[in-house]
Amino acid sequence: MKDIIYLDNAATTRMRPAVADAMLPFLTEEYGNPSAVYGLASKSRAAINKVRETIAGTLFARPEEIYFTAGGSEADNWALKAVFEANKDKGNHIITTKIEHHAVLYTCHYLESLGCEVTYLNVDENGRISMDELKRAIRPTTILISVMAANNEIGTLEPIKEIGEIAKKHKIYFHTDAVQAYGQIPISVEECHIDLLSASGHKLNGPKGVGFLYIRKGVKLTSFLHGGAQERGRRAGTENVPGIIGLGRAVELAFEDMEERRQRETELRDYLMEKVMAEIPYVRVNGDRINRLPNNVNFSFQFIEGESLLIMLDMKHICASSGSACTSGSLDPSHVLLAIGLPHEIAHGSLRLTLGYETTKEELDHTVEAIKEIVGKLRDMSPLYEDFIRKHSEREEQ
Ligand SMILES: *Cc1c(COP(=O)(O)O)cnc(C)c1O
Repeated sequence: MKDIIYLDNAATTRMRPAVADAMLPFLTEEYGNPSAVYGLASKSRAAINKVRETIAGTLFARPEEIYFTAGGSEADNWALKAVFEANKDKGNHIITTKIEHHAVLYTCHYLESLGCEVTYLNVDENGRISMDELKRAIRPTTILISVMAANNEIGTLEPIKEIGEIAKKHKIYFHTDAVQAYGQIPISVEECHIDLLSASGHKLNGPKGVGFLYIRKGVKLTSFLHGGAQERGRRAGTENVPGIIGLGRAVELAFEDMEERRQRETELRDYLMEKVMAEIPYVRVNGDRINRLPNNVNFSFQFIEGESLLIMLDMKHICASSGSACTSGSLDPSHVLLAIGLPHEIAHGSLRLTLGYETTKEELDHTVEAIKEIVGKLRDMSPLYEDFIRKHSEREEQ
C-alpha cells in the first residue's frame, strides 16, 4: 500500500505521469510565445490549438468555442459577470442554486451589489433542483441560468439536459459549472443546450491553474481580460502554454478510459458506502444514490465532529475532507448540507471521500477500519452519545 491514502480527489487530483511528460518540453526548449511569427513560436501555437481541438471534440463543440482560463473559478467568474454586463438591455435576473460552488455563489453575491437580481433555487433532500421551481423562477428579465453539472460535496448530478431545454425554449443562456463532472461523465453541449461550461485541469489529473470556458458561438458577453488578442481578444495575456498542454493531455487520457474508470469507481464507491453502512451505526449517506458522480461518497456520522475525524484520519495518513467550512475559519456547516435539509449537528459530522483512478479496494478496507476505530473513540468521548445510549437502553427496558 502507498504511504498516503488519498481520498480527496474532489479537492484536487494527482497529475498523471504522462501529463507531466507532455508538459516538460514546454517548460524547457519550447518556450516560444505563441503570438510570435518565427518557427519556435509556431510549435507552441500549434500545440495549444491542438488542445483546443481535443477539448472541443470531447464536448461536441467547435475549437473556436474553447477559451483557456486560469482554472474553474475564473471560468465561473467570467461566465456570470460577463453575461450580466453584456445583457443589461435584456434584463438583470440570474437563476442559480443554493448548492453551487463558492466561485458561482460569491460571484452572484457580488453581482447583487451591482444591481443584479438572483434567484437561488432550493434542492431536495438528495440535492436535486425541481424543474417546476425553475420554471416558476423564470421572468421576462432572466438572462442566465447557472446550474452545476455535479456537486463537489455530495456528488449529486443535476438534470442539465432538462435545464438546457427549458433555457433554450425561453431564450435564456445556460451556464453549467462542470468542474467536477467534466472528464468523469460524458457531456454534450449540443444535447444539453449548454451555452457556457466551466472546467478545470487539476480536477482531472491535470495541472493546477489552468482550465477553460466553453462559450457557444453567438453568446453575448464581455471580454474577461483586456489587452492582447489572445483567446480571440476575449481573454488577454500570453497563454499558459505548459499548463494548456498538460490540460490537453489530461483530457485525452480522461476520455480514453472514462467508461472503464466510471465502472470501476462506481463499484468501489458502492462497496465503500455499503461497508460503512454495514459496519458503523448511526450514519447516513448524503447525495443522490443514483444520479451521482462515480467517485463521490459523503457520510454524516451522528455524535461526532467531522473536523476531529479528519485530523485523526490524517494521523493515519488518510486524506479526506469534511462537509463543513471550518477550515476556512468559519464554524458554519457547509451550505450544501444545510440546503439538503441536514440539521447543524448532523452536518457537522460529515465526511467526504472522493476516489481517483489509482484508488484500490485494499485502501478502502483500510480506510473503513480507520473510520470505525476513530468514530468509536470520538463517540466514547461524546456526552451527547452517552446520553443517547442511556435513553435508548431505558426505552428498550420498558
Ligand atoms: C474546484 C471547483 C471549482 C474551482 O476550480 P479551480 O480550478 O480550483 O479554480 C469550481 N467549481 C467546482 C464545482 C469545483 O469543484
